[in-house]
Amino acid sequence: MNYCKALEKQGKVILDFTNGEPDFDTPKYIKSAAVKALNDGKTGYASIVGVEELRKAISKKLFSENNLNYNPDEILITNGVTHGIFLAVMSFLNEGDEILLPDPGYTVYPEIAKFAGAIIKAYRLKRENGFQIDISELQKNITSKTKMIALISPNNPIGSVIKKETLAKLAKLTKNKEILILSDEVYEKITYDGNKHHSIAEIKGMRDKTILLNGFSKSYAMTGWRLGYIAAPSHYIEPMMRLNSITTSGVNHFIQWAGIDAFEKEKDECNIMRNEYKKRRDYIISEICKIDKLSCLKPEGAFYIFVNIQDTGLSSEDFVKYIIDVASVALVPGSAFGEGGEGYVRFCYAKPISEISEALKRIAEAIKKLNINN
Ligand code: PLP
Repeated sequence: MNYCKALEKQGKVILDFTNGEPDFDTPKYIKSAAVKALNDGKTGYASIVGVEELRKAISKKLFSENNLNYNPDEILITNGVTHGIFLAVMSFLNEGDEILLPDPGYTVYPEIAKFAGAIIKAYRLKRENGFQIDISELQKNITSKTKMIALISPNNPIGSVIKKETLAKLAKLTKNKEILILSDEVYEKITYDGNKHHSIAEIKGMRDKTILLNGFSKSYAMTGWRLGYIAAPSHYIEPMMRLNSITTSGVNHFIQWAGIDAFEKEKDECNIMRNEYKKRRDYIISEICKIDKLSCLKPEGAFYIFVNIQDTGLSSEDFVKYIIDVASVALVPGSAFGEGGEGYVRFCYAKPISEISEALKRIAEAIKKLNINN
Protein backbone atom coordinates (compact mmCIF):
# COMPACT_ATOMS: atom_id res chain seq x y z
CA MET A 1 0.00 0.00 0.00
CA ASN A 2 2.81 2.39 0.87
CA TYR A 3 4.52 1.43 -2.37
CA CYS A 4 1.26 2.16 -4.19
CA LYS A 5 1.07 5.62 -2.58
CA ALA A 6 4.71 6.36 -3.46
CA LEU A 7 4.03 5.51 -7.14
CA GLU A 8 0.95 7.74 -7.11
CA LYS A 9 3.07 10.58 -5.77
CA GLN A 10 5.30 10.11 -8.82
CA GLY A 11 2.21 10.75 -10.98
CA LYS A 12 1.36 7.12 -11.88
CA VAL A 13 -2.33 6.24 -12.05
CA ILE A 14 -2.64 3.02 -10.10
CA LEU A 15 -5.71 0.82 -10.46
CA ASP A 16 -6.04 -0.48 -6.93
CA PHE A 17 -7.73 -3.84 -6.32
CA THR A 18 -6.25 -4.45 -2.88
CA ASN A 19 -9.04 -3.11 -0.67
CA GLY A 20 -11.65 -5.57 0.52
CA GLU A 21 -14.58 -3.24 0.51
CA PRO A 22 -17.69 -2.53 -1.54
CA ASP A 23 -17.45 0.28 -4.07
CA PHE A 24 -21.11 1.05 -3.35
CA ASP A 25 -22.14 3.83 -1.05
CA THR A 26 -24.15 2.82 2.04
CA PRO A 27 -27.84 2.61 1.05
CA LYS A 28 -29.67 5.91 1.57
CA TYR A 29 -32.28 4.57 4.00
CA ILE A 30 -29.47 3.57 6.40
CA LYS A 31 -27.76 6.96 6.17
CA SER A 32 -31.10 8.67 6.84
CA ALA A 33 -31.59 6.55 9.95
CA ALA A 34 -28.19 7.64 11.29
CA VAL A 35 -29.01 11.31 10.64
CA LYS A 36 -32.36 10.89 12.37
CA ALA A 37 -30.70 9.24 15.38
CA LEU A 38 -28.23 12.13 15.62
CA ASN A 39 -31.06 14.66 15.46
CA ASP A 40 -32.98 12.64 18.06
CA GLY A 41 -30.06 13.08 20.45
CA LYS A 42 -28.67 9.53 20.37
CA THR A 43 -25.31 11.04 21.13
CA GLY A 44 -24.47 9.89 24.65
CA TYR A 45 -22.77 6.63 25.64
CA ALA A 46 -24.73 3.59 24.55
CA SER A 47 -25.02 0.51 26.74
CA ILE A 48 -21.80 -1.55 26.75
CA VAL A 49 -23.60 -4.57 25.29
CA GLY A 50 -25.25 -2.38 22.67
CA VAL A 51 -28.60 -0.69 22.16
CA GLU A 52 -31.33 -3.10 23.18
CA GLU A 53 -33.49 -2.36 20.10
CA LEU A 54 -30.57 -3.31 17.83
CA ARG A 55 -29.94 -6.52 19.76
CA LYS A 56 -33.65 -7.33 19.38
CA ALA A 57 -33.47 -6.62 15.64
CA ILE A 58 -30.42 -8.93 15.33
CA SER A 59 -32.18 -11.63 17.35
CA LYS A 60 -35.14 -11.40 14.92
CA LYS A 61 -32.83 -11.46 11.90
CA LEU A 62 -30.95 -14.53 13.18
CA PHE A 63 -34.25 -16.32 13.64
CA SER A 64 -35.89 -15.37 10.36
CA GLU A 65 -32.83 -15.60 8.07
CA ASN A 66 -30.65 -18.20 9.80
CA ASN A 67 -33.13 -20.25 11.78
CA LEU A 68 -31.11 -19.54 14.94
CA ASN A 69 -32.50 -18.75 18.35
CA TYR A 70 -30.54 -16.11 20.24
CA ASN A 71 -32.25 -13.84 22.71
CA PRO A 72 -31.05 -10.20 22.89
CA ASP A 73 -28.97 -11.00 26.02
CA GLU A 74 -26.93 -13.35 23.88
CA ILE A 75 -25.89 -10.59 21.51
CA LEU A 76 -23.04 -8.11 21.91
CA ILE A 77 -22.59 -5.16 19.56
CA THR A 78 -18.98 -4.66 18.40
CA ASN A 79 -16.90 -2.16 16.46
CA GLY A 80 -17.05 -4.23 13.31
CA VAL A 81 -16.27 -7.93 13.04
CA THR A 82 -12.58 -7.19 13.54
CA HIS A 83 -13.32 -6.09 17.08
CA GLY A 84 -15.51 -9.17 17.56
CA ILE A 85 -12.54 -11.37 16.59
CA PHE A 86 -10.37 -9.49 19.09
CA LEU A 87 -12.89 -9.85 21.92
CA ALA A 88 -13.42 -13.56 21.32
CA VAL A 89 -9.75 -14.49 20.90
CA MET A 90 -8.54 -12.37 23.83
CA SER A 91 -11.32 -13.55 26.15
CA PHE A 92 -10.95 -17.27 25.56
CA LEU A 93 -7.36 -17.98 24.57
CA ASN A 94 -4.47 -18.01 26.99
CA GLU A 95 -0.78 -18.29 26.30
CA GLY A 96 0.02 -21.69 24.83
CA ASP A 97 -3.58 -22.51 23.83
CA GLU A 98 -3.94 -23.64 20.25
CA ILE A 99 -6.19 -22.12 17.62
CA LEU A 100 -6.83 -23.68 14.22
CA LEU A 101 -6.99 -21.12 11.44
CA PRO A 102 -7.82 -21.51 7.75
CA ASP A 103 -4.88 -21.07 5.39
CA PRO A 104 -5.41 -19.10 3.20
CA GLY A 105 -7.50 -16.94 5.49
CA TYR A 106 -8.16 -13.39 6.61
CA THR A 107 -4.94 -11.81 7.87
CA VAL A 108 -6.30 -10.38 11.13
CA TYR A 109 -6.78 -13.80 12.77
CA PRO A 110 -3.13 -14.84 13.14
CA GLU A 111 -2.18 -11.35 14.32
CA ILE A 112 -4.76 -11.32 17.11
CA ALA A 113 -3.97 -14.93 18.04
CA LYS A 114 -0.28 -14.01 18.37
CA PHE A 115 -1.27 -11.04 20.51
CA ALA A 116 -3.07 -13.46 22.85
CA GLY A 117 0.07 -15.65 23.02
CA ALA A 118 -1.80 -18.52 21.36
CA ILE A 119 -0.20 -21.12 19.12
CA ILE A 120 -1.45 -21.05 15.56
CA LYS A 121 -2.11 -24.26 13.69
CA ALA A 122 -3.08 -23.81 10.08
CA TYR A 123 -5.53 -26.04 8.26
CA ARG A 124 -4.99 -25.82 4.54
CA LEU A 125 -7.74 -25.04 2.07
CA LYS A 126 -6.39 -26.59 -1.11
CA ARG A 127 -7.26 -25.88 -4.70
CA GLU A 128 -7.54 -29.60 -5.47
CA ASN A 129 -10.38 -29.75 -2.88
CA GLY A 130 -12.09 -26.71 -4.41
CA PHE A 131 -10.62 -24.76 -1.44
CA GLN A 132 -12.92 -26.71 0.90
CA ILE A 133 -11.91 -27.96 4.37
CA ASP A 134 -10.28 -31.38 4.40
CA ILE A 135 -11.74 -32.74 7.63
CA SER A 136 -9.14 -35.47 8.07
CA GLU A 137 -6.33 -32.93 7.74
CA LEU A 138 -8.02 -30.59 10.20
CA GLN A 139 -8.48 -33.50 12.61
CA LYS A 140 -4.73 -34.21 12.57
CA ASN A 141 -4.14 -30.71 13.91
CA ILE A 142 -6.40 -31.12 16.93
CA THR A 143 -4.53 -31.77 20.19
CA SER A 144 -5.39 -31.56 23.90
CA LYS A 145 -4.37 -27.90 23.72
CA THR A 146 -6.80 -26.96 20.94
CA LYS A 147 -9.21 -24.39 22.34
CA MET A 148 -10.63 -22.75 19.25
CA ILE A 149 -11.26 -23.37 15.57
CA ALA A 150 -11.98 -20.39 13.32
CA LEU A 151 -14.26 -20.84 10.32
CA ILE A 152 -14.55 -18.14 7.69
CA SER A 153 -17.38 -18.68 5.25
CA PRO A 154 -17.59 -17.28 2.66
CA ASN A 155 -13.83 -17.08 2.88
CA ASN A 156 -11.56 -14.12 2.29
CA PRO A 157 -9.41 -14.42 0.11
CA ILE A 158 -10.65 -17.50 -1.76
CA GLY A 159 -14.42 -17.08 -1.79
CA SER A 160 -15.25 -20.66 -0.81
CA VAL A 161 -18.47 -21.36 1.10
CA ILE A 162 -18.35 -24.22 3.63
CA LYS A 163 -20.92 -26.89 2.76
CA LYS A 164 -23.50 -27.89 5.36
CA GLU A 165 -22.24 -31.51 5.21
CA THR A 166 -18.76 -30.28 6.13
CA LEU A 167 -20.17 -28.32 9.07
CA ALA A 168 -21.94 -31.49 10.22
CA LYS A 169 -18.64 -33.42 10.03
CA LEU A 170 -16.92 -30.70 12.03
CA ALA A 171 -19.68 -30.89 14.62
CA LYS A 172 -19.12 -34.64 14.92
CA LEU A 173 -15.38 -34.15 15.21
CA THR A 174 -15.64 -31.65 18.07
CA LYS A 175 -18.59 -33.32 19.83
CA ASN A 176 -17.00 -34.33 23.11
CA LYS A 177 -14.22 -31.80 23.04
CA GLU A 178 -14.04 -28.44 24.76
CA ILE A 179 -13.32 -26.53 21.61
CA LEU A 180 -14.97 -23.23 20.77
CA ILE A 181 -15.88 -22.48 17.17
CA LEU A 182 -15.38 -18.93 15.99
CA SER A 183 -17.69 -18.55 13.02
CA ASP A 184 -16.99 -15.51 10.83
CA GLU A 185 -20.05 -14.87 8.69
CA VAL A 186 -19.36 -11.33 7.51
CA TYR A 187 -19.84 -12.25 3.81
CA GLU A 188 -23.02 -14.18 4.57
CA LYS A 189 -25.21 -12.35 2.08
CA ILE A 190 -22.67 -12.38 -0.74
CA THR A 191 -22.98 -15.88 -2.19
CA TYR A 192 -23.65 -17.07 -5.75
CA ASP A 193 -25.07 -19.96 -7.78
CA GLY A 194 -27.21 -21.32 -4.94
CA ASN A 195 -24.24 -21.72 -2.57
CA LYS A 196 -26.23 -20.73 0.47
CA HIS A 197 -24.34 -19.70 3.57
CA HIS A 198 -24.90 -21.91 6.62
CA SER A 199 -23.78 -21.18 10.14
CA ILE A 200 -22.29 -24.04 12.15
CA ALA A 201 -24.58 -22.88 14.97
CA GLU A 202 -27.45 -24.38 12.94
CA ILE A 203 -26.04 -27.87 13.46
CA LYS A 204 -27.46 -29.77 16.43
CA GLY A 205 -25.34 -29.31 19.55
CA MET A 206 -23.17 -26.56 18.08
CA ARG A 207 -25.00 -23.40 19.10
CA ASP A 208 -23.61 -23.70 22.62
CA LYS A 209 -20.01 -24.05 21.40
CA THR A 210 -20.14 -21.33 18.78
CA ILE A 211 -19.20 -17.67 18.86
CA LEU A 212 -20.93 -16.27 15.81
CA LEU A 213 -19.43 -13.12 14.32
CA ASN A 214 -21.21 -10.97 11.80
CA GLY A 215 -21.61 -7.34 10.84
CA PHE A 216 -22.76 -4.74 8.38
CA SER A 217 -19.51 -3.87 6.55
CA LYS A 218 -19.74 -6.06 3.47
CA SER A 219 -23.41 -6.94 2.98
CA TYR A 220 -24.67 -3.38 3.57
CA ALA A 221 -21.63 -1.48 2.23
CA MET A 222 -20.91 -0.05 5.68
CA THR A 223 -17.18 -0.64 6.16
CA GLY A 224 -16.55 2.81 7.58
CA TRP A 225 -19.35 2.64 10.11
CA ARG A 226 -17.61 -0.01 12.22
CA LEU A 227 -20.67 -1.98 13.22
CA GLY A 228 -20.71 -5.67 13.96
CA TYR A 229 -22.07 -8.16 16.47
CA ILE A 230 -21.37 -11.37 18.32
CA ALA A 231 -24.05 -13.97 19.06
CA ALA A 232 -23.17 -16.58 21.69
CA PRO A 233 -24.54 -18.11 24.91
CA SER A 234 -24.63 -15.44 27.64
CA HIS A 235 -21.82 -17.03 29.70
CA TYR A 236 -19.57 -16.32 26.72
CA ILE A 237 -20.99 -12.85 26.16
CA GLU A 238 -20.20 -11.81 29.75
CA PRO A 239 -16.34 -11.85 29.58
CA MET A 240 -16.37 -10.31 26.10
CA MET A 241 -18.67 -7.56 27.32
CA ARG A 242 -16.21 -6.79 30.15
CA LEU A 243 -13.32 -6.60 27.71
CA ASN A 244 -15.46 -4.43 25.43
CA SER A 245 -16.10 -2.11 28.36
CA ILE A 246 -12.42 -1.51 29.06
CA THR A 247 -11.32 -1.30 25.44
CA THR A 248 -14.04 0.84 23.80
CA SER A 249 -16.81 1.76 26.28
CA GLY A 250 -19.22 0.51 23.62
CA VAL A 251 -20.03 1.24 20.01
CA ASN A 252 -21.05 4.68 18.62
CA HIS A 253 -24.59 5.28 19.74
CA PHE A 254 -26.36 6.81 16.72
CA ILE A 255 -24.78 4.28 14.36
CA GLN A 256 -26.47 1.44 16.19
CA TRP A 257 -29.88 2.97 15.40
CA ALA A 258 -28.98 2.94 11.72
CA GLY A 259 -28.16 -0.76 12.13
CA ILE A 260 -31.76 -1.42 13.18
CA ASP A 261 -33.09 0.15 10.00
CA ALA A 262 -30.48 -1.68 7.92
CA PHE A 263 -32.31 -4.92 8.79
CA GLU A 264 -35.84 -3.76 9.27
CA LYS A 265 -36.27 -1.40 6.34
CA GLU A 266 -34.22 -3.31 3.78
CA LYS A 267 -35.98 -3.75 0.47
CA ASP A 268 -33.67 -5.26 -2.09
CA GLU A 269 -30.43 -3.34 -1.58
CA CYS A 270 -28.22 -6.29 -0.53
CA ASN A 271 -29.49 -8.37 -3.45
CA ILE A 272 -28.89 -5.60 -5.95
CA MET A 273 -25.26 -5.27 -4.78
CA ARG A 274 -24.81 -9.04 -4.73
CA ASN A 275 -26.16 -9.38 -8.29
CA GLU A 276 -23.73 -6.71 -9.45
CA TYR A 277 -20.81 -8.56 -7.79
CA LYS A 278 -21.94 -11.72 -9.53
CA LYS A 279 -21.86 -10.01 -12.94
CA ARG A 280 -18.35 -8.80 -12.23
CA ARG A 281 -17.25 -12.22 -10.98
CA ASP A 282 -18.53 -13.90 -14.14
CA TYR A 283 -16.87 -11.27 -16.31
CA ILE A 284 -13.49 -11.46 -14.57
CA ILE A 285 -13.44 -15.27 -14.62
CA SER A 286 -14.13 -15.41 -18.35
CA GLU A 287 -11.41 -12.83 -19.01
CA ILE A 288 -8.75 -14.35 -16.73
CA CYS A 289 -9.12 -17.67 -18.56
CA LYS A 290 -7.96 -15.86 -21.72
CA ILE A 291 -4.76 -14.56 -20.11
CA ASP A 292 -1.72 -16.75 -20.62
CA LYS A 293 -0.35 -18.38 -17.44
CA LEU A 294 -3.25 -17.30 -15.20
CA SER A 295 -6.13 -19.42 -13.94
CA CYS A 296 -8.69 -19.37 -11.17
CA LEU A 297 -11.54 -21.31 -9.63
CA LYS A 298 -15.02 -19.82 -9.58
CA PRO A 299 -15.55 -18.30 -6.13
CA GLU A 300 -18.82 -19.23 -4.46
CA GLY A 301 -19.06 -16.08 -2.37
CA ALA A 302 -17.45 -12.81 -1.16
CA PHE A 303 -15.93 -10.49 -3.81
CA TYR A 304 -12.42 -11.81 -4.41
CA ILE A 305 -10.76 -13.87 -7.12
CA PHE A 306 -7.77 -15.88 -5.99
CA VAL A 307 -5.73 -16.07 -9.16
CA ASN A 308 -3.23 -18.87 -9.67
CA ILE A 309 -0.01 -17.32 -11.00
CA GLN A 310 2.27 -20.35 -10.57
CA ASP A 311 2.85 -20.74 -14.33
CA THR A 312 4.50 -17.31 -14.48
CA GLY A 313 7.38 -18.72 -12.41
CA LEU A 314 7.23 -15.75 -10.06
CA SER A 315 6.50 -15.81 -6.35
CA SER A 316 3.26 -14.08 -5.38
CA GLU A 317 5.22 -11.13 -3.93
CA ASP A 318 7.34 -10.79 -7.06
CA PHE A 319 4.28 -11.05 -9.30
CA VAL A 320 2.51 -8.27 -7.39
CA LYS A 321 5.63 -6.09 -7.57
CA TYR A 322 6.03 -6.77 -11.30
CA ILE A 323 2.37 -6.01 -12.07
CA ILE A 324 2.33 -2.77 -10.13
CA ASP A 325 5.58 -1.63 -11.75
CA VAL A 326 4.71 -2.63 -15.31
CA ALA A 327 0.89 -2.43 -15.39
CA SER A 328 0.18 0.02 -12.54
CA VAL A 329 -2.34 -2.44 -11.10
CA ALA A 330 -2.23 -3.16 -7.36
CA LEU A 331 -3.09 -6.67 -6.10
CA VAL A 332 -2.45 -8.52 -2.84
CA PRO A 333 0.11 -11.37 -2.79
CA GLY A 334 -1.54 -14.64 -1.77
CA SER A 335 1.29 -15.26 0.70
CA ALA A 336 -0.17 -12.47 2.88
CA PHE A 337 -3.00 -14.91 3.71
CA GLY A 338 -0.77 -17.77 4.84
CA GLU A 339 1.69 -20.24 3.34
CA GLY A 340 -1.15 -21.84 1.40
CA GLY A 341 -1.62 -18.58 -0.51
CA GLU A 342 1.81 -18.72 -2.14
CA GLY A 343 1.45 -18.96 -5.90
CA TYR A 344 -1.73 -16.85 -5.89
CA VAL A 345 -2.76 -13.21 -5.87
CA ARG A 346 -6.01 -11.72 -4.56
CA PHE A 347 -8.02 -9.50 -6.86
CA CYS A 348 -10.98 -7.73 -5.24
CA TYR A 349 -13.72 -7.23 -7.82
CA ALA A 350 -15.81 -4.79 -5.80
CA LYS A 351 -15.01 -2.28 -8.53
CA PRO A 352 -16.75 -1.09 -11.72
CA ILE A 353 -16.44 -3.44 -14.70
CA SER A 354 -14.76 -0.69 -16.75
CA GLU A 355 -11.93 -0.54 -14.19
CA ILE A 356 -11.69 -4.33 -13.98
CA SER A 357 -11.54 -4.56 -17.76
CA GLU A 358 -8.75 -1.96 -18.01
CA ALA A 359 -6.77 -3.72 -15.26
CA LEU A 360 -7.06 -7.10 -16.98
CA LYS A 361 -5.92 -5.59 -20.27
CA ARG A 362 -2.87 -4.13 -18.56
CA ILE A 363 -2.12 -7.40 -16.73
CA ALA A 364 -2.36 -9.38 -19.99
CA GLU A 365 0.08 -6.98 -21.67
CA ALA A 366 2.49 -7.18 -18.73
CA ILE A 367 2.45 -10.99 -18.86
CA LYS A 368 3.18 -10.89 -22.59
CA LYS A 369 6.26 -8.78 -21.83
CA LEU A 370 7.24 -11.21 -19.08
CA ASN A 371 7.10 -14.07 -21.63
CA ILE A 372 9.28 -12.15 -24.11
CA ASN A 373 11.85 -11.27 -21.44
CA ASN A 374 12.04 -14.87 -20.24
N1 PLP B 1 -13.77 -11.00 8.59
C1 PLP B 1 -13.35 -11.21 7.33
C2 PLP B 1 -13.27 -12.60 6.83
C3 PLP B 1 -12.97 -10.12 6.52
O1 PLP B 1 -12.54 -10.35 5.28
C4 PLP B 1 -13.05 -8.82 7.04
C5 PLP B 1 -12.61 -7.66 6.23
O2 PLP B 1 -12.04 -7.74 5.18
C6 PLP B 1 -13.51 -8.65 8.34
C7 PLP B 1 -13.85 -9.75 9.09
C8 PLP B 1 -13.60 -7.28 8.96
O3 PLP B 1 -14.92 -6.86 9.02
P1 PLP B 1 -15.29 -5.49 9.72
O4 PLP B 1 -15.17 -4.40 8.70
O5 PLP B 1 -16.71 -5.69 10.15
O6 PLP B 1 -14.37 -5.29 10.86
